[in-house]
Parts: sequence; C-alpha cells; structure tokens
Amino acid sequence: MKVHFLDVGQGLSILVQSDGQTMIYDGGDKSTSSFVVSYLQKQNVTTIDYLISSHYDSDHMAGLIGCLNAFDVKNVISSDYEHDSKLYQSFIQTVADKGLPMQHPAVGTEFSFGSGSFQILAPATIDPNDSNKNSVAIKLTNGDNSFIFTGDAENTSEKAMCESGIDLSCDVLVPGHHGSATATSWDFLQATVPEYAVISCGKDNQYGHPDKDVMDKLESMDIQVYRTDKQGTIIAVSDGTTITWDQEPCNDYSPGDKEDKGTQAQTSKSKGSSSSGSMAAANENSSSGNKEVSAASAGASSQVEATPQVTAAPQDTSSTSNEEMVWITATGSKYHNKNNCGQTDPSKASEISRSEAESRGYEPCKKCFR
Ligand SMILES: [Zn+2]
Ligand SMILES: [Zn+2]
Repeated sequence: MKVHFLDVGQGLSILVQSDGQTMIYDGGDKSTSSFVVSYLQKQNVTTIDYLISSHYDSDHMAGLIGCLNAFDVKNVISSDYEHDSKLYQSFIQTVADKGLPMQHPAVGTEFSFGSGSFQILAPATIDPNDSNKNSVAIKLTNGDNSFIFTGDAENTSEKAMCESGIDLSCDVLVPGHHGSATATSWDFLQATVPEYAVISCGKDNQYGHPDKDVMDKLESMDIQVYRTDKQGTIIAVSDGTTITWDQEPCNDYSPGDKEDKGTQAQTSKSKGSSSSGSMAAANENSSSGNKEVSAASAGASSQVEATPQVTAAPQDTSSTSNEEMVWITATGSKYHNKNNCGQTDPSKASEISRSEAESRGYEPCKKCFR
C-alpha cells in the first residue's frame, strides 16, 4: 500500500494505491488542482475507487472536482451537510453528472480497500454552521500498519472519536486542520500514539499553521515529523508490517508563526517533577481560544479555514502563573494532587490547572484531596 501526501501548499490531498485500487482523500485547493490530476496520471491512475471529501472547504475539495472530471470514479464519500459556496455547488453538480450517489457512511462503517481496509471514524454529529467539525475522518489499515486522516476535524470531533470505542492506535497520523491549535488534543494523541505525523500545510501560510503547542506535543511524545511545507510531496509504503518512506523525517518542530511563543511562558510549573509532556498538556488549555481568533481575523477574507474555537473561553492568563495544578488522565473522572497517588497510572497522567479540570467535569480524588 502506497500513501502519497501531496504537496498542495495550504491544503490537503492524499493518494493511496493498493493492489490495483485507488483512493483519493481530499484534493487540495484550486491553485493545485491541475497538479493533483497530473500527479495521479503520472502514477498511471485511471480509476478512483474511493474519492473521499473530508469537508467542503476549498483547500480540501477544489482538486476533487478536477479528479471527478479526469478519472473514472466509482464511489464518492463525503460529509452530510451543505456548504454555502459556488465550489460546493460545482462539486455536487459534477458528482450528479457522473450519476454517482454521495455516500455519508456512519461512524464505524468499514470498507475493504486493496490489500487492506478503511473505517469511518467521524463525523459522529453534524454542525451545519461549522464546516471543519464535520470532517470525515478515516483509519486506513494494511496488515499491522495503519494511518489516520482527519481532514480539518477539531477537538470536539477528536473527543467523539476517542469515545467511539474504535481502536485509534496508528502508525501515521495526519494532525487535523494542518496542525492548527484547534486540533491534535492531548487526549487524541494519547489514543492514537502515532510513530509518525505528517503535517500538510503551506509554506509561510497566513494562518501560522502548524501551531507551536501542537508541535511541542509531538516533540514531547517523540513523534517523528514529516511536513509538506518543508519537504514537498512525501510517500510512505506499507508492506503490512513495516512502513518505508521516500525520505527521512525532517523532525522540524518549529511553528508556522515565528512569533508564536506558545503558552509555555505563561504557565509556571508548581510541581517540580513534571515532564515536558505534561507541561504541553497544561499549556493546551490556556490559550488556544485566543490564538484561533486572531488567526481567523488574519484570514477572514478567504475560506472558512481558521474558525474560532468555540469551546473553553480564553482564560485570564495573568492568573495562570499562580494557578493550582492538578493531575488527570484521559479516561479518569477525578483529578489528583500528584501523578502517583495510587489511583492513576503515572505514565498516563497529565497536568492541568485545577480550574480547568473542574470546568471539564473532573472531581477531586477522594484519596489525595480531602
Ligand atoms: Zn477546513
Ligand atoms: Zn483545511
């Protein structure tokens, strides 16, 4: 199984070939549509067995229209909502003209594909007002190897995937939303535990993708990083046991926005022994809201790319330096005074502020908080 992460600048497009079958997951933006079509032609693609549109933002969907016109497409899988754009109208018209139904398979649905299979992970729910959240996410499996693609899915969708009961462990994760702060939550990383992350984003993109906190998390978990903005098109080949790459990982954990200092400086650790991983987890909660709002205003003239994070309101960062820190785990319901109070697995615990833990519904551990 050969997985090509196409360099489509600020966008996403992944071609998968296996045993004579072809899948395209997203097609990049208008500016790279002809590149995608010619790339597939160079790989001798004539038929696309599965054309998957994660969601209808142009940086993912535009190139799929080119593919529909250039190749014999068998199945179209997409998200069950409508998008307010001419491009969306053009997409559904092209699909209809080919006599193809739009398939919106439920979470958990499995398809056999080439020498392996893929399973639908998201969306569990549809938000008519938020394109990214509706992204179709899949887990692609070939023997012992697996890959997860989440489009522009955000933290809320990642949470639903974690709660789906589906095994999310994988070898290769494409961090959601081009490495933006709206995705790649600590819990999702702990559920997927990838060996490799492939970030698809444009060089010097206006959104500042990828985000510093996301890159810090990847680095703290020793996840090997590939980036289309630094390395161009990247190819991985799975033989069912081992994944072989056409180049070495760049392991460049620098954020897209050079000015982005992350949230590290705003959080002082109250416990002496926390690792960099738990620190990243603590940081995650403090300012993703702020940052995404500024990214949205910076890119307001273009697509619905950087939607403001609507979950937790931005915290008053002036108070975080004195915040009481507590330990939680992704699966537990209690927060703890220490990471090894006997009620938690220390290796799975992460540190966050007590107020954040309470706002997320965690309750004090009866053993270490009385
Ligand atoms: Zn999007
Ligand atoms: Zn996008």
